[in-house]
Amino acid sequence: MTDFEEQILRNLEADWGPAAPRSEFSKGDILRYKADGSTWSGVIVWIAAQSESTVEGHEPLKLRYIVERHGWQDSIPDVVYSKDILSGEAEPEPTLEKCPHCGGHHFKGMVRYCPNNPNKP
Ligand SMILES: [Zn+2]
Repeated sequence: MTDFEEQILRNLEADWGPAAPRSEFSKGDILRYKADGSTWSGVIVWIAAQSESTVEGHEPLKLRYIVERHGWQDSIPDVVYSKDILSGEAEPEPTLEKCPHCGGHHFKGMVRYCPNNPNKP
């Protein structure tokens, strides 16, 4: 893993919480899921472990899939719970994308998290 890749993972963990040790789907898998009353597909960029709610008195947060909706790369990723998943398929092999920010390659959907991206979410 390169330094950039490690930096990206640290950013994701800071944004979404620690990675889930176990989950039904894996990073890079393609999900079809329900959100905002519609059906979407996207790629899993992070899987956050179950955790205590940050709001007192609320239920603990369930395992969450952070999904980059296809065609919506510039918006905030969707947070998808197991109950909203219609189907999932494993990415046949990890797809690398050339990164315009650092000149290296990142897994598909991860380029926006590049530490060199000036518009990093
Ligand atoms: Zn990069």
